[in-house]
Amino acid sequence: MSAELKIAPFTIPLQEVPTTASIAASTPEHSAAEKRAIIAEIKAELERQDAVLVAHYYTSADIQQVAEETGGYISDSLDMARFGNEHPATTLVVAGVRFMGETAKILNPEKRVLMPELKAECSLDLGCPADEFSAFCDEHPDRTIVVYANTSAEVKARADYVVTSSIAVKLIDHLAGEGHKILWAPDKHLGSYIQKVTDADMLLWNGSCVVHDEFKSRAVGNLLQQYPDAAVLVHPESPEAMLQLATVIGSTTQLIKAAQTLPNKHLIVATDNGIFYKMQKAAPDKILIEAPTGGVGATCRSCAHCPWMAMNSLDNLLSTLKKGNNEIHVDEEIRLKALRSTQRMLDFANTLEAE
Ligand code: SF4
Repeated sequence: MSAELKIAPFTIPLQEVPTTASIAASTPEHSAAEKRAIIAEIKAELERQDAVLVAHYYTSADIQQVAEETGGYISDSLDMARFGNEHPATTLVVAGVRFMGETAKILNPEKRVLMPELKAECSLDLGCPADEFSAFCDEHPDRTIVVYANTSAEVKARADYVVTSSIAVKLIDHLAGEGHKILWAPDKHLGSYIQKVTDADMLLWNGSCVVHDEFKSRAVGNLLQQYPDAAVLVHPESPEAMLQLATVIGSTTQLIKAAQTLPNKHLIVATDNGIFYKMQKAAPDKILIEAPTGGVGATCRSCAHCPWMAMNSLDNLLSTLKKGNNEIHVDEEIRLKALRSTQRMLDFANTLEAE
């Protein structure tokens, strides 16, 4: 079997990707007292509006803390979708990036879904425009279309299955066992990793994550000389050379579990550093080290923190709650089609848990 890499006709001009440093520089700084006041207002608004905050692991520690203290939730995109679906609140406030808000709306059309910042995109989503992707699918009618959750509602609507990194290997393995040939989009590194593990026949879209793409295997090798006892935790959106250094490869939730169970004192972590908030709580006795994103003299755009995730702040969270703006809408015809492929993901995940 083989993984064939499709060179997508569309690439994101680098100048359209904000740097995390520029986002941080434009985010207001607050004293501890100001922060407490803003958080108190957010909590009051959440209660007043029957709203619940669902945050991704890559958002700031402040936002994750508010989610924890208000009965909200912090997790990866699969569990965020499930939680929003099961929680009785009439408004879901999704702190993360746009496709997460869209997924919440796909599953919960009757609920109001708000996001702190609608411009919070994802390079995987941007790098897989629906028209080009649909034309690509048309060229390969014999393939089952499996897309990563990091895609627009329109791309999900074109797919047979949606997956997150936590169940991608198992789903592709299952489909390959049934004789399916796969068209995978958009992350080429994750697709390539799945292909190697499952030996499935896969055709890959050429997308990548601007954060994980920047991790540097040579610099991690140098770090390992300094910490020879360290384990290396790597998200599978990272390049192949990083995966070869990994002690554990897994989704955000799987990496947090590994941090708890591995015996190593030092853990070199190759995913967005927003995960450190939950990982350190889960494994308080471990020393977490950020995997380097540049060698000597190199520069980074994300520097291990997603620029779009960094757009979520306490200020725009409060503003959205007060103004009721930044609401997510998904065209009903698209939503119904995207629901079919997304629901298949949830059903498959439930089957795995029941085993
Ligand atoms: S970290 Fe990468 S995959 Fe996640 S939202 Fe940012 S760009 Fe997308």
